[in-house]
Amino acid sequence: MKPSGRGPRKSDDFGKWFDYVLSEAELLDVRYGVKGFVVYRPNAMKIVARIYRMLEGELERAGHRQVLFPVVIPLSNMKKETEHVKGFEDQVFMIERAGGEELQEKLVLRPTSETAVYPMVALWVRSYGHLPLKMYQSVAVYRHETKATRPLLRGREFLWIETHDVFPTEKEAEEQVLQDLDVEKRVCQELGLAFMVADREPWDKFPGAEYSYAYDVPLPDGHVIQIGTTHYLKDKFTKAFDVSFLGRDGKWETPVSTCFGPGVGRMLAAVIATHGDDGGLVLPFGMAEHDVVIVPIQQKGQEESVKSKCAELLDKIGGAGYDCALDDSDRSPGSKFFAWEVKGVPLRVEVGPKEVAERKVTVFRRDTRTRETMGEEDLLARMGELKGDMLKTLARRSQDLLREKQKRATTRAEVTDLAAGRYIIKMGFCGERGCADEIRKATDGYEVRGRALDESAKPSGNCAWCGRPALRTVYVADAY
Ligand SMILES: [Zn+2]
Repeated sequence: MKPSGRGPRKSDDFGKWFDYVLSEAELLDVRYGVKGFVVYRPNAMKIVARIYRMLEGELERAGHRQVLFPVVIPLSNMKKETEHVKGFEDQVFMIERAGGEELQEKLVLRPTSETAVYPMVALWVRSYGHLPLKMYQSVAVYRHETKATRPLLRGREFLWIETHDVFPTEKEAEEQVLQDLDVEKRVCQELGLAFMVADREPWDKFPGAEYSYAYDVPLPDGHVIQIGTTHYLKDKFTKAFDVSFLGRDGKWETPVSTCFGPGVGRMLAAVIATHGDDGGLVLPFGMAEHDVVIVPIQQKGQEESVKSKCAELLDKIGGAGYDCALDDSDRSPGSKFFAWEVKGVPLRVEVGPKEVAERKVTVFRRDTRTRETMGEEDLLARMGELKGDMLKTLARRSQDLLREKQKRATTRAEVTDLAAGRYIIKMGFCGERGCADEIRKATDGYEVRGRALDESAKPSGNCAWCGRPALRTVYVADAY
């Protein structure tokens, strides 16, 4: 079936298409009037809430408990870890006045919460019995992005979860980093998103981290979007904030810590950008405004029988636990089709006089844009199958995209050619920051994202860019 999209085509102009979907599917409103800040409308919040629930469930099962720290952090806290404050000082929002007076202590809006959390951890952790301490909070963070802002892709307020975990030993902390990766994997499976993991280059890691893993989802336009990171902080923050505990042997020790920041707003962006098509959003069950919409196809003289059949189906589908709506508005069936397709509603049930007479229903599935007709008695069973099948289809497309987008380069010419073709490049890399800077300049923004975690062995060849011996195989991509 031909897409009924009336907006920009996704393959022609991804940026325009993305903005069109945000507005037409009633996800965001960008007219709030403060640069980098947007309003999340109910259709976006339904997806956001779902992603939060998935992540929170996974984190709770892995032994985390929820906390909520204040949004303001005293500036003096920020200054306690030098690398950290250097990394964020150009990006923070600062409150200097309140109640009509200059504040004695300036307050920073959290750009991330390590410097809010660790002074309290120092009070809470006194002995080995208090460890491990595993906490998370579901909040927004504030960073004054200086590059051009884009709704969901690069904003100044973004929704995420941050975990703050403290362990008695390095071994346990490093195991946590892998556990965080598993959490991200399981949630992305439920969202049908494929991603790749990069061990960030030393100059690109989180300010204050020993090492950082970043999770990048490939987008159809050739960009990648970072949907989360995990950082092994070792003792950087626990030392800076004087956290210590009395070990089993009666000696005072410094614990080590990790943090994990899955970006909920960015996962929403990845869901929209990855699954959507020219007709708008495409969503798995449980995320769209409704799972199923019933559309009556009226003919003169048959109104009552169609109407009562629709009401009967609404009860039946709703009673089976699906979020089902009946669109009995005055709009034409075509306008209804268009409106619900833009919003990504997974299934549409069409009921006309023919269906009533034959005790059949016609079901349209949003992911493949195909129709099938079935006996009414088979509807619920088929719906159950379609629910799983649609998620599988979306996940497979995302996997295919990840595979198709990755290409290897061994020479400088291959790097520039692949960048021009909007591919994600895998290449041997010398590890020099200067070399990464040259690549960025020559390719109009391609970044060395870090060591590809799926490549374990040290590569035998040379850096594809400069020809020096390669230390590792890295991903190079254009990131939002
Ligand atoms: Zn190099």
